[in-house]
Amino acid sequence: MKKFFLMAVLFVVTVSFALTIGVIGKSVHPYWSQVEEGVKAAGKALGVNTRFFVPQKEDVNAQIQMLEAFIAQKVDGIAIAPSDPTAVIPYVKKALQQGIPVITLDTDSPNSGRYVYIGTDNYAAGYRAGTIMKEILGGKGKVVIGTGSLTAMNSLQRIQGFKDAIAGTNIQIVDILNDEEDGSRAVALAESALNAHPDLAAFFGVYAYNGPSQALVVKNAKKVEKVKIVCFDTTPDILGYVKEGVIQATMGQRPYMMGYLSVTVLYLMKKIGVQNTLALLPKVTVDGKEDYIIDTGVDVVTPQNLNDYLKEMERLGIPIRF
Ligand code: BGC
Repeated sequence: MKKFFLMAVLFVVTVSFALTIGVIGKSVHPYWSQVEEGVKAAGKALGVNTRFFVPQKEDVNAQIQMLEAFIAQKVDGIAIAPSDPTAVIPYVKKALQQGIPVITLDTDSPNSGRYVYIGTDNYAAGYRAGTIMKEILGGKGKVVIGTGSLTAMNSLQRIQGFKDAIAGTNIQIVDILNDEEDGSRAVALAESALNAHPDLAAFFGVYAYNGPSQALVVKNAKKVEKVKIVCFDTTPDILGYVKEGVIQATMGQRPYMMGYLSVTVLYLMKKIGVQNTLALLPKVTVDGKEDYIIDTGVDVVTPQNLNDYLKEMERLGIPIRF
């Protein structure tokens, strides 16, 4: 009985002293489930409570509401992937003023005062996608871009990188379609683009569900040989289409690591202090300003290297099953 009582006291003490970290993603999607897995794994390893939130689809107001709720709950750290980098600024500043460290993951808001950005170098990844597209198309043809946001920085940077990579070629971007991270809208838009441009040479899929939506319509229209697809991410549906050869290349991000590292960095900020944590991180200079960015890296996956990629993920303990 006494032992049980002691254990109960110990449990209450540990639980009440455990840090709580809030993470806000962008939409309900397997990509964000991979981020959540990383968040939970880090929470478990570090003994931190984690709260993970995603709106149904792109919804900066829902993100802001959650940000305010986390501030009111006095959580110990917040990581957010802002759907609109400007709209979140006052709320990020409010959290910082109250001593709650804030960082961004997946997509940035560099003028918000957040301490660190953890995620893909989106401009470079978009540029890489454009370079691959150039090779696949032999430097010519019509391309339609599908994305889920025209405000989120990651989308805009990927598109800019892609455009810069194909500049000076005879590749022509005939449409940029925004579905606001609505999967069925993405399919409908890809379908109408395919009908509107019978001579379409390729799709570029900016967000995780764009590639599979485009693949579905290309396959249904029996145009796999004619219409190529280069996209982002390595969720199981995408890898299925890579295996079939419907998607020629995908820029694999590392969402699990984005989640894992976000919790770890915020934990350190609380345990050893913000400045001491920043001193451990890669310092970069962007537009003449010092900044802290953890580039989580990109894996370009093609039908040729798919098996090696899957083996590598298995080795890292992040198995992808499809
Ligand atoms: C992007 C996320 C987006 C996700 C699902 C990923 O490529 O990095 O910002 O929410 O796709 O659409």
